[in-house]
Amino acid sequence: MHIVNKIYQQLLSHHGPQHWWPGETQFEVTIGAILAQNVSWTNAAKAIENLKKHDLLQPQKLFKKKPEAIAPLIKSSGYYNQKAAAIATFLRWFKQYDFSFEILQKLPTERLREELLALPRIGPETADSILLYALERKIFVVDAYTKRIFTRLGILTGNEDYTAIQKMFHQNFEGTVHDYNEYHALIVKHGKDICTKKPHCDACYIADICKTV
Ligand code: SF4
Repeated sequence: MHIVNKIYQQLLSHHGPQHWWPGETQFEVTIGAILAQNVSWTNAAKAIENLKKHDLLQPQKLFKKKPEAIAPLIKSSGYYNQKAAAIATFLRWFKQYDFSFEILQKLPTERLREELLALPRIGPETADSILLYALERKIFVVDAYTKRIFTRLGILTGNEDYTAIQKMFHQNFEGTVHDYNEYHALIVKHGKDICTKKPHCDACYIADICKTV
């Protein structure tokens, strides 16, 4: 069994289940994935709350708003003009499917991923977060924490791109969609608390298999 499976179990037994992704509906989770780009979840959550307060966390209602009207409501998420434009682009695409997650659920993952990636301002991390957390597709979300931790562990060289890192997990990680969800959340937790820029190796529960120490 590949080492990434052992690392998952060790992170899970230390940090415990992370219960991602916060969101009451699939639409909320999707908008959360866009708002969480390059920002802490706390700031993205404030923007979500603001959209809720204005009764706009419904695709048909949000679609009627211009990006200029959405931007001030999501200021806390940073890069708010770009994110408002990304939300508008996503909604134009979603309209083709009658704003229905039931319709999206019937489409193959590859097609959904290609279509999401073709949208301006939707990168692989956001597209994969939508696929994993809103649509429950078995797809690995890669972020800067993933690259940092797995490079320090000696599993990556540090030169791999997003696709290569994702492929490594897809080929070797034997988890269910729930485990994929949990693994990404655990990596973020570990990267924020232990394997930080200046790592706390003394407190690390995977130090026994790490090439850095
Ligand atoms: S031992 Fe140190 S460098 Fe290795 S994963 Fe843990 S915190 Fe990161």
